Amino acid sequence: MPIASVNPATGETIATFEPLSNDDIELKLQRAAEAFIIQRARSFAERAERISKAAAILESRAQEYARTITLEMGKPITAAVAEVKKCATVCRHYAEHAERYLAPEHIATDALESYVRFDPLGVILAVMPWNFPFWQVFRFAAPALMAGNAGLLKHASNVPQSALAIEDILREAGFDHGEFQTLLITSEQVPALLDDERVKAATLTGSEPAGASVASGAAKNIKKSVLELGGSDPFIVMPSADLDAAVKTGIKARIVNNGQSCIAAKRFIIHESIADQFERRFVEAMEALRIGDPMEETTDVGPLATPQIADDIAKQVEESVRAGATLLTGGKRLRDRGNYYAPTVLRDIPRSAPAYAEETFGPVASLFRVKDADEAVKLANATRFGLGASVWTTDRDEAERFIADVDSGQVFVNAMVASDPRMPFGGTKHSGFGRELGVYGIREFTNIKTVWVAADPGAKRGDSAPE
Ligand code: NAP
Repeated sequence: MPIASVNPATGETIATFEPLSNDDIELKLQRAAEAFIIQRARSFAERAERISKAAAILESRAQEYARTITLEMGKPITAAVAEVKKCATVCRHYAEHAERYLAPEHIATDALESYVRFDPLGVILAVMPWNFPFWQVFRFAAPALMAGNAGLLKHASNVPQSALAIEDILREAGFDHGEFQTLLITSEQVPALLDDERVKAATLTGSEPAGASVASGAAKNIKKSVLELGGSDPFIVMPSADLDAAVKTGIKARIVNNGQSCIAAKRFIIHESIADQFERRFVEAMEALRIGDPMEETTDVGPLATPQIADDIAKQVEESVRAGATLLTGGKRLRDRGNYYAPTVLRDIPRSAPAYAEETFGPVASLFRVKDADEAVKLANATRFGLGASVWTTDRDEAERFIADVDSGQVFVNAMVASDPRMPFGGTKHSGFGRELGVYGIREFTNIKTVWVAADPGAKRGDSAPE
């Protein structure tokens, strides 16, 4: 069954779904196009009332939605609750700020009046991943709906219940004319949607091949796309750093979401003068993590979302060790049932090994030693990805150097990389293009319209003074 909820902790199939037929899709597309007409005529206040209601629903049923998330993709329940609450935050953020973010911008020119306005584009297709099944969707939906667009969601095939729950939340919140609909479809059904005249643009969060496919399908139709793709984020620790904080945050940044986060710290680049200490403490902390049932509040690391992900990460580690990397801990599957993989630390990783620059989507940390900041920057940039970077130093000049020279969409100093509704989020290089969140995010799916008024359109011909 291509669309199914399968509990990653047990392998048990919870629910299966038939993909929509072409006729079903046609009805939903038509509904979305009609809903857009309603949406664009609404005031910001009318949209805000609805998106605020969505926030209230998310908050009041956070435990219930968190359970759905954990059952479908295996993240620890406490993280799932936090994810649902963060969705409420992004809804409230845009309810409060969208009108200001999209207010006309007056620009002085030779015209009587000249300004820029931000009009909605229409129906936007969102292709989303399973790793943050609520958050990835709400960080698209809240700004898109507040800007006056309509949304169609093609969610990952392993989180259909999350996808349906999100549609219900937004409908119950008052977007009840088809302004946001879930399409239970396979990825093979996406190209036809991109070809459809009623779909005006697309956004994809996921892997490079999926991104390339959706962006080229959109480009072929002269439609805009935004891509949020993978990462192999560096976590740089210099001698002046607070080592306790760096180790503690480094562990959290690596195992967040059982290691399956685009902005997880994946490559730890440590100055040689503190590398022995960092390595010892880091390995100890990885070995102390509690691995188990993600429904237990005390669990730090649950199962990987699918058997394929567990196989992929095992293969990357095996190939890296075969290429010459040293395994400091982990490196094996755990338990008879479920997709568990041991928190793993590698060092002495040669350039030819997958763990050197590829994305490791699981609890596997790659440790590197460098002699100075130059080498740290070089190694940080030695990947085709450029999503986030975390740098640890108390030397201001050194921090400025990393901020300027690391090629990534975001640099965090003495903190782990995280998204925040107030700040833009996105990558460079093969991590994608375009931005979500903040003022930049809401403007992605708008028509940035230039308005130039040479003479008062209200004035009768001949009213204007002779030159
Ligand atoms: P994925 O396989 O690319 O799937 C993501 C979505 O794309 C799913 O809905 C999937 O549908 C769909 N899809 C796959 N191939 C497609 C195609 N050829 N055409 C149209 N749609 C297609 O990625 P994943 O394994 O679920 O997610 C992990 C990746 O996402 C990692 O690389 C991670 O770094 C990245 N990610 C990036 C961000 C970010 O903000 N930059 C955030 C989270 C995750 P099916 O499930 O039906 O295949």
